[in-house]
Amino acid sequence: MDYMSYKEYLKHITTFIFDVDGVLTDGTVKVTTEGEMFRTMNVKDGYALKTAVEKGFKVCVISGGTNEGVRVRLQNLGIKDIFLGASQKTQVLEEYLKTNNLKAENVLYMGDDLPDFKIMQEVGLPTCPQDAVPEIKAISKYVSHKKGGKGCVRDVLEQVMKVQGKWAITNGVSAKYD
Ligand SMILES: [Mg+2]
Repeated sequence: MDYMSYKEYLKHITTFIFDVDGVLTDGTVKVTTEGEMFRTMNVKDGYALKTAVEKGFKVCVISGGTNEGVRVRLQNLGIKDIFLGASQKTQVLEEYLKTNNLKAENVLYMGDDLPDFKIMQEVGLPTCPQDAVPEIKAISKYVSHKKGGKGCVRDVLEQVMKVQGKWAITNGVSAKYD
C-alpha cells in the first residue's frame, strides 16, 4: 500500500472516517455549572460532509465520547454510521469494514490524539489536523494546514472530491447549506 503517493491515494478513497473531539471540534468543551458540556463544530466542514454523503461516499464517525448532541448534529448532515463510546477503535473499524464490504486501503481516517494511533496504522490514508499531537503527525500521510474544528475535515473531503470530480464547483451541483 505504501507504493502510492498521497495524491494517488486520493483517487482511491471510498470511505471517510473521522474522530470527533479535536477533529470535528476544536477540542475544547465549555462546561456549565450543571456539568453540561458544549462543543463547537464547523459549518464549512458540515457542508462538505453532507456533500460527500450525497455523492455516495461512506462517511463514518468513531468517537470515544458519548455525547448524544454530537449524534444529532451528525445525523442531520446525513451521516448514518456513528459509533460513540468506542473504547477500541480498531475493533469498530474491523467490524465496519466487514459489514460494509470495504477495504482498509480505501479508507481516509482523520484523528488528532493517541486513541487514534492504532486505527490510523490500519487504514490506507491516515491524516490529521495541524494541531494533532506529535505522535499522530508522525504517522500521518497528510497533515492538514487547518486545525481541528477549523476546516481540517473540509480540507480532506474537498481534496478527495475534487480529484474524483465530485466536488460541487466541478460539476455544478451543491448540497443545501445548513
Ligand atoms: Mg480526538
